[in-house]
Amino acid sequence: MINNMYKKFNIDDDIINLVEETEKELHDEFNKINKVYEQNQLKVLNAFIKNEVSERHFYESTGYGYNDDGRDVIEKVFADIFNTEDALVRQQIVSGTHAISLVLFALNKSNDNILSITGMPYDTLKAVIGLNNEVASLKYYDIGFDYAELKNDYFDFDEIKKKINDKTNLIMIQKSKGYSSRHSFSNEEISEAIKFLKGIKTDVIVMVDNCYGELVEETEPSDYGADIVVGSLIKNLGGGIAKSGGYIVGKKDLIDLCSYRLTAPCLGKEVGISYNQNRNVLEGLFLAPQVVANALKGSRLFAKTYYKIGYKTYPSYDEKFNDIVLAIELKKPDVLENFCNAIQHSSTVDSFLKPVFSDMPGYDSKVIMASGSFVSGSSIELSCDGPLREPYIAYFQGGLSYYQIKLALMKTITYIKNGNR
Ligand SMILES: *Cc1c(COP(=O)(O)O)cnc(C)c1O
Repeated sequence: MINNMYKKFNIDDDIINLVEETEKELHDEFNKINKVYEQNQLKVLNAFIKNEVSERHFYESTGYGYNDDGRDVIEKVFADIFNTEDALVRQQIVSGTHAISLVLFALNKSNDNILSITGMPYDTLKAVIGLNNEVASLKYYDIGFDYAELKNDYFDFDEIKKKINDKTNLIMIQKSKGYSSRHSFSNEEISEAIKFLKGIKTDVIVMVDNCYGELVEETEPSDYGADIVVGSLIKNLGGGIAKSGGYIVGKKDLIDLCSYRLTAPCLGKEVGISYNQNRNVLEGLFLAPQVVANALKGSRLFAKTYYKIGYKTYPSYDEKFNDIVLAIELKKPDVLENFCNAIQHSSTVDSFLKPVFSDMPGYDSKVIMASGSFVSGSSIELSCDGPLREPYIAYFQGGLSYYQIKLALMKTITYIKNGNR
């Protein structure tokens, strides 16, 4: 019966069998993912019950947004999930980049220095830092930036120690590899770094860019003493339901500073309507542990199947997955193009479109992207992108339904074998 369904998607028997077999081999891995899912689902539900999430929290507010109870309860729920003193979860935070930028501007003064200990941060942050002297960048306001490269795919503690000085005020750790092939750090590894950093400079602020890493493990970086943790609601924590927004969780005095920077010093967290999104944010958060677990299973299935047909992935199928992104080294541009087309043609929305390589602002090479999602640009939904340069890596992530991801996998192999059909 199911094979007949796969036939409707033009998948051949040998590809169905390959994926079915791989899925069976991943039984133990999937059980481990389910255990983390169970733990995180209970953690989220517990925060809902403890904070008495109620029907009234779905009512819309207008104007200044004083007494937007739904917004306030969301922030309490986030603080509980992350085990932090406070949280800022807002529709006015337009993306992950904005959330990170907000923190960097709020917590640093002129002549302070920021140090990234996971190499050069995510692409979009280069303009925030002001690497090309952008107006309104951190550099423009005399906030300095430095970074320590990774060594053997791990923190280079000697180098980090050398780079910490009197001016170092905030240290950035990017959990996820982003668009590189390094490993993504586990929260245990981040914990080791935090202990080391605080040992050198007790009062330094440690910020973690948690994008794509939320709910992947049983803990979050804030459980290990990260002072501030940041991410986007159109990735893991939005569960595919939140339409927009970003979150910042951490110490109360730091969250206060971020809120003063987001609104105004006299206003802080007291204002800012939630554009009738409280229900979506809460429902998405409730579903997020399940959605993340499905995405992780899909990612594992992709990794092991691609290993079998002769492609390298990061992480490799037998390594620990610390975020939902899988990098697949496809070696040839036409393979990358076929891969992205197959992902697009397996999407819920705009499945009929044909992605092509094109120029993108902020990228050195042309990029191909596949994304057919309910929420525009959402990368907790099935999506991938790949820069047109060697070794032609597809960065794949998401999928709200495990079986959609499984089909997409079969379709990518079909396209790579037979061309786009
Ligand atoms: C996605 C991402 C960001 C930026 O988030 P946007 O919402 O796309 O602005 C920052 N850091 C990492 C590691 C990311 O994956």
